[in-house]
Amino acid sequence: MNNIAIDFDVIIAGGGLAGLTAANILGRDFKVLLIDPDDYPRHKLCGEYLSAEVENILLDLGINLPKATDVKLKKLLFSTQNGNKIQADLPLGGYGISRFHLDHLLFKKIDQSVAIKKDKVVEVNMKLSQFVVLTKHEKFTCRQVIMATGKRSVLDKNLSREFVQHKSPWLGVKCHYEFDMPLDQVELHNFNGGYAGLSKVENGNVNLCYLATFESFKKYKDIDDFNREVLSQNPHLKLFFQNARPCWEKPIAISQISFDNKSAVQNGIIMIGDTAGLIHPLCGNGMAMAIHSAAIASKCILPFLKDETSREDCLKGYEREWKLAFNSRLRTGRWLQKLFLNPTATKVGLGIVKNIPSLLPLIIERTHGKVVY
Ligand SMILES: Cc1cc2nc3c(=O)[nH]c(=O)nc-3n(C[C@H](O)[C@H](O)[C@H](O)COP(=O)(O)OP(=O)(O)OC[C@H]3O[C@@H](n4cnc5c(N)ncnc54)[C@H](O)[C@@H]3O)c2cc1C
Repeated sequence: MNNIAIDFDVIIAGGGLAGLTAANILGRDFKVLLIDPDDYPRHKLCGEYLSAEVENILLDLGINLPKATDVKLKKLLFSTQNGNKIQADLPLGGYGISRFHLDHLLFKKIDQSVAIKKDKVVEVNMKLSQFVVLTKHEKFTCRQVIMATGKRSVLDKNLSREFVQHKSPWLGVKCHYEFDMPLDQVELHNFNGGYAGLSKVENGNVNLCYLATFESFKKYKDIDDFNREVLSQNPHLKLFFQNARPCWEKPIAISQISFDNKSAVQNGIIMIGDTAGLIHPLCGNGMAMAIHSAAIASKCILPFLKDETSREDCLKGYEREWKLAFNSRLRTGRWLQKLFLNPTATKVGLGIVKNIPSLLPLIIERTHGKVVY
């Protein structure tokens, strides 16, 4: 290590699930700065089904999921556009927990020694083997930058990342409702141009979160109109909108959601969570991947921060481990999404799965990881 004064060992840009997990782990032993422009708690666009595979990582950080939420999701109900449905047990299961609650729990667990700035990172450069991080208001130096800025940020543009060169056709919408549905069930309902997830969260509300193509959405006046004219074509969603009462004045919506390949390391920066790759939401695995990738990254850069090995070796090790953990489920997610958005293929697929019910849990397993210890 050189002897130039450096402000921090690690700077983490972005305090969603990935950034908060990394801040919790690395903040125990190193000088860490976490930068995010928002306050906590806050709602975030997400289906809020958390796969149980990361339960132990969270427990190690002091978050006991069964205590944090009563919603243990064990079953999946899936329906096609015309309302044909199939049910299956979820092999590993998961938890219904809002991002409002989970992100805040993780935020409160961060070690007091971690510096936290409410700001936006706008540029990251490497000079003489140290990083210079520019925010809107300040400038910091560090030995390693971790980028956890989510689906798309100004930093992706500044780094000229491949995926920001293309427009993405996807948009997401989310709102919480008062509605009566089984506590242990997550539902996935297909509609023309997208699909919607329904499940309960810790306070008893139901989260409706959907992904739709901009192409299908743009013909309608607004979200209410789209819900009424398109989502409600599916009888399960029609019943939902007839009986559910929104808890918020208006839903959260974001556009330009990209599922393109991304790199896990770029310009010496470690990417975690959605910054490294976003799995199709129908797999319900993005939150777990964000938490797991942060744990992998933290483990991989440890030897570098302790001066036991070079940065290059750490970065190579992280890239290797990231691919090993997530590449195959991302591939399965892409394949499933294609199938899902083709009504004929969905109908045929449903027929096959109805005849061979053991297929569905197998497909679900391929989009998830094993329990992480
Ligand atoms: C429609 C939809 C439904 C989904 N449903 C599910 C589901 O049911 N289950 C599941 O597991 N996953 C689901 N996902 C995926 C899941 O939401 C994401 O994978 C997860 O949020 C990734 O967490 P993250 O920490 O990488 O990013 P985020 O949670 O997006 O956090 C990124 C953070 O970076 C901050 N930031 C951005 N730019 C900057 C900057 N320049 N400087 C500093 N900070 C910055 C933001 O403020 C934010 O706090 C869904 C995704 C979509 C689109």
